[in-house]
Amino acid sequence: IIHARDVRKSYGHVEALRGVSLQVKRGEVVALIGPSGSGKSTLLRCINHLETPTGGVVQVAGHVMGYTTKRGYLRECNQRTLARQRRSTGMVFQHFDLFAHRTALENVMEGPTSGLGETRAAARARAHELLALVGLAEKAGAYPSELSGGQQQRVAIARALSTRPDVLLLDEPTSALDPELVGEVLDVVTDLARQGVTMVVATHEITFAEDVATTVYFMEKGSVVESGSPREVIRNPVEARTAQFLTHIS
Ligand code: ATP
Ligand code: MG
Repeated sequence: IIHARDVRKSYGHVEALRGVSLQVKRGEVVALIGPSGSGKSTLLRCINHLETPTGGVVQVAGHVMGYTTKRGYLRECNQRTLARQRRSTGMVFQHFDLFAHRTALENVMEGPTSGLGETRAAARARAHELLALVGLAEKAGAYPSELSGGQQQRVAIARALSTRPDVLLLDEPTSALDPELVGEVLDVVTDLARQGVTMVVATHEITFAEDVATTVYFMEKGSVVESGSPREVIRNPVEARTAQFLTHIS
C-alpha cells in the first residue's frame, strides 16, 4: 500500500534522507528504528508529503503523492488534490497536538466533518466508536487539559483514524510520555495491529517493535542500513551498526 522509492530529502546541505526505499503491504506493521537524527521523522513526513522530498517517489494507496498523472506524465498537483491524497494516511505525532479548546469527542469529529463533509451525527457516532476503541468511551466530554498525556495520545490516535486512512503513521507516539503512561498507548497500538490496521511507526521502544512489527527498518544517517523481520533485524542483525545501536539502547 506504500511504495517509496529512492526518497531523498535535503535541508540546505543536510541530507536527512539519502535515497530510502520502503514497501508496506496492507495489514503490515513497519517499525522504523535508529538513532536520533537518522531520518525516521523525515521519512514519515515525506510519506504523507508534509515534507516534499527532494528526490524519489512515494506512492500511497495508488496515489503518487504530490502528483497527478496527465497523459502519462507526472505533474505536481494542487493543494486540494494533495489534501485528498493525504487522507489515505493518518498521522500521530510525538506531542499529541489536540485542539485545546475542544473536547475529546470534538477533536475526533473534526476531520470527518470539516475535511470529508460527513454529517455531524455520523461523525459523532463514529467518534464515540473510536474513543471506545482506544478505551476512552467515558472521556468523550473531557478537554485535553483534563486528560493525562497517555489519554491525550489515545485521543490523537482515534482522531488519526477518524478519516478512515489506509495507513496510520506514528512518530514516536510514546516518547513524550511519562514512563508509567507508555504502556497504555503501546497497548492501543498493539490492539490496532492485531485488528489489521496498517501502520508505520517510528519508535525507540525496541521490545514493542519486536513484538508488534512485521518488518523492522534500521536507519542511520538518512539511509536504511538493514530491514527484515524483527527476528532478523533485532535478534540477529547482519550489520555491525545495527548490533551496536541495539546494545546501546537496551
Ligand atoms: P529522532 O529520533 O531524534 O526523532 P529522527 O530519526 O526522527 O530523529 P529526523 O528528525 O528525521 O531524525 O532528522 C534527520 C536529519 O534531518 C537530522 O540531521 C535533522 O537535524 C535534520 N532535519 C530534520 N528536520 C529539519 C528541518 N526542518 N530543517 C533542517 N534540518 C532538519
Ligand atoms: Mg523523529
